[in-house]
Amino acid sequence: MKCPICKKEVTPADRFFPFCSERCKIIDLGNWASEKYVISTPIQPEESEGAEGPGGAEGEDQADER
Ligand SMILES: [Zn+2]
Repeated sequence: MKCPICKKEVTPADRFFPFCSERCKIIDLGNWASEKYVISTPIQPEESEGAEGPGGAEGEDQADER
């Protein structure tokens, strides 16, 4: 078995198998993370928050009360 990152020989007994070292493991994880980042780039419209004044909530209650 070879390290998928640097192609060095690795044995299943290796601590970081299938990577040869922690470094390669981290590199692989990094690749994964960045891939995830690319795949899921949701544009969340949760940015316009904070325009609400204290106590100035939207008048959702019915104004039909007398
Ligand atoms: Zn390696």
